[in-house]
Amino acid sequence: MPQRDPFYDILFEPLQIGPLKAKNRFYQVPHCNGMGYLRPKTLAAMRGIKAEGGWAVVCTEEVEIHATSDNGIAAEGRLWDDSDIPALTKMTEAVHEHDALAGIELVHGGFSNSNHYSRIPPIAPSMISVNNYDPVQARSMTKADIRDFRKWHRQAALRAKQADFDLIYVYAGHCLTLLMHFLSRRFNQRTDEYGGSMENRVRLFREVIEDTKEAVGDKCAVAVRFAVDELLGPKGITSENEGREVVEMLAELPDLWDVNISEWENDSATSRFEKEGFQETYIGFVKSLTSKPVVGVGRYTSPDKMVSLIKQGVMDMIGAARPSIADPFLPKKIEEGRLDEIRECIGCNICVAGDWLAVPMRCTQNPTMGEEWRRGWHPERIEPRKSNEGVLVVGGGPAGLECALALGNRGYRVILAESCEELGGRVSRESRLPGLAEWGRVRDYRMGLLEKFENVTIYCGSKLSAEDILEFSAEDKFGFSHVMLATGATWRCDGIGREHRGPIPGLSNLSVLTPDNVMNGVSANGKVLIFDDEHYYMGGVLAEKLKLEGHEVQIVTPASDISTWTHNTMEQFRIQKRLLELGVKITPQHNLVSVHPGAVKLECNFTDKSTIHECQTLLLVTERFPNDDLHKSLLDNPEGIDQAGIKTIQCIGDCLAPGIIAAAVHSGHLAAREFEANVPEDIPFLRERILL
Ligand code: ADP
Ligand code: SF4
Repeated sequence: MPQRDPFYDILFEPLQIGPLKAKNRFYQVPHCNGMGYLRPKTLAAMRGIKAEGGWAVVCTEEVEIHATSDNGIAAEGRLWDDSDIPALTKMTEAVHEHDALAGIELVHGGFSNSNHYSRIPPIAPSMISVNNYDPVQARSMTKADIRDFRKWHRQAALRAKQADFDLIYVYAGHCLTLLMHFLSRRFNQRTDEYGGSMENRVRLFREVIEDTKEAVGDKCAVAVRFAVDELLGPKGITSENEGREVVEMLAELPDLWDVNISEWENDSATSRFEKEGFQETYIGFVKSLTSKPVVGVGRYTSPDKMVSLIKQGVMDMIGAARPSIADPFLPKKIEEGRLDEIRECIGCNICVAGDWLAVPMRCTQNPTMGEEWRRGWHPERIEPRKSNEGVLVVGGGPAGLECALALGNRGYRVILAESCEELGGRVSRESRLPGLAEWGRVRDYRMGLLEKFENVTIYCGSKLSAEDILEFSAEDKFGFSHVMLATGATWRCDGIGREHRGPIPGLSNLSVLTPDNVMNGVSANGKVLIFDDEHYYMGGVLAEKLKLEGHEVQIVTPASDISTWTHNTMEQFRIQKRLLELGVKITPQHNLVSVHPGAVKLECNFTDKSTIHECQTLLLVTERFPNDDLHKSLLDNPEGIDQAGIKTIQCIGDCLAPGIIAAAVHSGHLAAREFEANVPEDIPFLRERILL
């Protein structure tokens, strides 16, 4: 095993947190996951694997402390009464098994929760509409309500202690918490001792920290999560003014400061908009005001950067949510000197989408995420091979690379053939689009490992036909009897998609491009009109690219806003803002109905009123065709397959069903796991159900 460079030793120095000792400097900060109280076994397995991977502290997601803080369909944690303790105990047991500390982020959401399930009017420092578009207003808390809230928090802390948590959070991070609502001038209009001056607005925060210390401080550490800046300038809390004042006022009170920026979309900004370490400007001051340990986040994946953060006194522990999702074994890999095995987060926020959609999160880089319990997948271990069979993987995009890697890990002989000179398929092309460079990590991580495998041979510049495959299978040099087709997908140029189930009329009247054309370097002429009926990032990012190249650009979509699915990755606001700032014309809620010389006809979604829009190039972002011709030609030749001794042929990734990169990686991994394995015929994974 490689030895760790002593340069990284500082990351493995223990640290005192109140009455506890953390074994090293790796801290998995609270993060949501779409598992929560609905799927406690899924959750416990996921957190346990993080602990096994070397994180000294492993925290929960938000855990609601009372029925007045009901997050509806969101699958967050819940600790409303004693009956919620056993589910959470599953997690502490899994974490303690690996000698890590378990932290719990107690939360009251105040007016961020509409309480659809409990039907109790939400509570807030002052009467206010809930902070979404639900027709619900929160009521102003009386003094008795404040006393009740303190009591609920105290009870939740005691229950958390009973569930064997080590760190108990008092949470005023993000704008989603009652304590933050009290701190904020925008939301707190009270005229009593809980409103007005900063001293008054911080009162409840202080009281709850004191209550928690008094209740559980004998055994547990009390951590505070606080957003030092809301990125709203003088309208909000800033790290120069009120954020700093709060830290000054409470500096020595908690056992640990976990500091970040608000709201969640700022805290978990995607790599398209923010790079590693983007929060340092805001949180950098905290350590100078307290002697207590400080944790911060910033999508850190570079061990050198982590060392410098500690040496420079920016933070004492390296906080991570996404990097711990992409690689639960990140600390272990640094500890054991296996830096080249780190699976770096690409900052795409597909994990976050799982939480918004209330399903167990997935991760683009880590296909085992969310599958730890239900499929028994481990990120670092995989069933060894069952035979000496060889496998040909055709296509070196995310699906093919992952399939080759997982099969290679199992010990199978693998031949990976890629028609281009460069590996990576769509991730290589897409990582050259504005802001998406980090997506290349999907390729780089896998290539780096594959190159070391003696049982995997890679042939680039090798476009295979069905005849080639049949011929090569018999050659001693190759000798494979199974074929995985990962040949990807191609963007359609006929406009067929959600709005049009047949080709858009008149396409021959204009120069028409697809995303593949643009990414392959085909130039657009004059004004470009993009019709986006796909709704994820592609339409928006191509608008940005073409505008930056000097074209006049108009983007049209039947949706209410641009790249509308990116609400799930918390980027939509930034994407639309960027396009508007660049001067891209945005036409939402319109369909493209026909194409004419030098123009297209659009129709309003609601009124059917049509308008003509001039353009010289039409870029269609609608659906993709699976590249399954190779599959079809092979199936057309059953005798040839038989003679060649090929036993199985399988499509994976986009050539099976075009989707997101995470789906392609998962598909490649799944195929490798299921290869020569007994797969249940019905539902191939366990489900967590309410037992009656
Ligand atoms: P996925 O997302 O499913 O991995 P991609 O489109 O990213 O799909 O990758 C598919 C890869 O397969 C591309 O790099 C493409 O060049 C390669 N490919 C497609 N057809 C062949 C073929 N016949 N032989 C070898 N490689 C191929
Ligand atoms: Fe990182 Fe994307 Fe994985 Fe989330 S889904 S952890 S952002 S790679």
